[in-house]
Amino acid sequence: MTESEAIVFIKNANELSKKAIHDLGQIKNKAERIEKIGEYYSNLENCYKEIESCEIAIKALEEIQQYRAIGTVEEIEPYVRLGEKLNLCDLIRENAKLVKKIQHLEVYEKQLKEYEAIGTVGMPGSNGKAKPQPPDIWGDGYDKEGNIIYDMYNCPGCGQSYEIDDKYKYCPECGQALNWRGFENL
Ligand SMILES: [Zn+2]
Repeated sequence: MTESEAIVFIKNANELSKKAIHDLGQIKNKAERIEKIGEYYSNLENCYKEIESCEIAIKALEEIQQYRAIGTVEEIEPYVRLGEKLNLCDLIRENAKLVKKIQHLEVYEKQLKEYEAIGTVGMPGSNGKAKPQPPDIWGDGYDKEGNIIYDMYNCPGCGQSYEIDDKYKYCPECGQALNWRGFENL
C-alpha cells in the first residue's frame, strides 16, 4: 500500500465517523427524553476521537509524501518509521472497529426506541446501573515474558466484551456506568 492509497483509505474511515456523528445527531432528542444522554455523549466522544486520529494519520502521511519529494534522508527517517506504524493491518483493524461502532450505534438506537416505548421504568440506570462499576479486565494473549496482555474487558452489568482501547463510560449494550480508575494506563 502506498501513502496515497493509505490516505484514501483513512479518509474513508473518517467519512464513516462523520456519518456516525450525523446518525447520533438524529437520536439526540430521543436520548435526552428518556435520560440516556450520558451514553449519548459517550458515543459521540468516541466518534470525535476517531475523527481526530484519522486527521492526525492523514497529516502524518501527507508529511511523509512531502519529505519523500524533498528527499532529505535524515528528515525522512522519523516519518518513515511513523508510516511503518500506520501499516495496512492497523488501518484495516481501525476500519473494522469503526464499522463495529456504527453497528453498535444501530443497536443503541433500537434500544432507545424500546426504552421509549416502555417508559423509563425498568430501564438500565434505574436499576443500579448508574453507579460506576469497575470493568472485568481480561486477555487471551501473552507477551515475550509469558505475561498475559490485558487488552479486553467485560461489562460487569451484562458481560458484553469490548477491546480495552474502547474505554466506554457507559456500556453501549446495557447502559452500565463504568469506573476506569486504576485502569487508565491499560
Ligand atoms: Zn453492559
